[in-house]
Order: sequence, then structure tokens, then C-alpha cells
Amino acid sequence: MELNPNQIRLMMLQVADAIIAAEAMLSQADRDLGDGDHGLGMKRGMEAVKAQLEPMDPASVEQVFVTTGTAMMSSMGGASGALFGTVYRAGGKALAGRPAFDSEGLALLLEAALEGVMKRGGAKPGDKTMIDALAPAAAKAREVTALPLPDALKAVAEAAEAGKDASKAMIAQFGRAKTLGEACIGFPDAGALSVTIMLATMRDFAAA
Ligand code: ADP
Ligand code: MG
Repeated sequence: MELNPNQIRLMMLQVADAIIAAEAMLSQADRDLGDGDHGLGMKRGMEAVKAQLEPMDPASVEQVFVTTGTAMMSSMGGASGALFGTVYRAGGKALAGRPAFDSEGLALLLEAALEGVMKRGGAKPGDKTMIDALAPAAAKAREVTALPLPDALKAVAEAAEAGKDASKAMIAQFGRAKTLGEACIGFPDAGALSVTIMLATMRDFAAA
């Protein structure tokens, strides 16, 4: 199974709606560890994504993901705008020349997203950031490229969720949560929660 550029556009519109619907949950997660603005920032980013994707007649899957990243980067501001923008811009560029999105494309997208975010933000796995959901998701995606896309997305969403849950035990090394030290144990990272919601929505789209 492959998704064509227009299906990827519809998938990303569904991702945008899921993140907007999760605004309160994402802000609460950030409030437990940071400043509480993550849900609002992501909502602003996803509204900008919708404005770009709703009228779009996409020529490629690359274009849909890169446009998503650019819209997030230019509307959210701050560190997380640049970082989530990089997820989709770097991930999308890795799909250049691929006519459709399949399990191999999923692995390429997540590997390039992870590499881009690590380069841009300097965090590593274990630092209690979105990387703790993204890294296990990318590793799982590479493992399951032989599976049909819906099954690959199911495994990848599960890996992201497990990574998000594992972030509860971590002590933050970046952002405001860093000042909390051991007080951040028990709470998952807000950005990792966003990554988990995004991948779960992609899984549901591909399964439908
Ligand atoms: P801000 O930190 O500006 O308040 P948000 O609250 O929107 O921005 O986003 C916070 C999220 O950004 C964190 O939960 C974390 O997942 C992610 N993040 C912060 N710094 C980094 C980094 N250096 N690398 C990767 N992700 C990061
Ligand atoms: Mg914040």
C-alpha cells in the first residue's frame, strides 16, 4: 500500500486537527515541566499548516511535508517552531523523487527528521525531549520496511508511545524543564507527546 501526494495532504490535515484537538492536553504536559505554552504553539502551527494544505494540489509527497514544516516554522516561532519545522522539512526533503509514500518512505522521513532535529537542537536520546519519541519511532520504521504501510505505522506509533512513556523517568537537559532536575520525573515530555499523537493519527489514517 502506498499513499499518493493528495492522500498525504489529507493525512496531514487529519494530523493538524488531532493536534489542535489535543491543545489542552499538550499545554498541561508542558505546564507540568515547562511554561505551559506547547499546546497553544502547536495549535498556531497547525492552523497555519491547514491554511497551506487546504487549497493545495500537491505535486509530490515531499512538497506536502516540506510545506507543513515551513508553515510551522514561520507561524510558531521559538525553539519548538524551528524544531518541529525541521522535523517535517528535513523529513520531507528525504522523500525527494519518490512518487508515493510507503514503508520505506516512512523510515526515510523519520530518520531524516531525527537527524535534522538532533543537529538543530543539540539534544540526544535520554534528554527528555521529542527525540525520545522520534528516535525509537525511526529505529522501528527501519526495522519494518518490509511490512505494508498500515502495519508499519502501527508498529512505529507504538514505538513512539513507548518512548514517550519512557521519557517520564528522564531528567530534562533542555528547555525550561531543565531547571526542575529530579522534580520532572514522572511526567512525559510534551514534545514527545505531540510526536506520539502525530504518528497515531497517521496510523489511523492509513488503517481507515
Ligand atoms: P518552548 O520550549 O519554547 O516553550 P514548546 O513548549 O512549544 O516550546 O516546546 C517544548 C518542547 O520542545 C519540549 O517538550 C521538547 O520536546 C522540545 N524541545 C525543546 N528543546 C529541544 C531540543 N533541543 N531538541 C529537541 N526537542 C526540544
Ligand atoms: Mg513551552
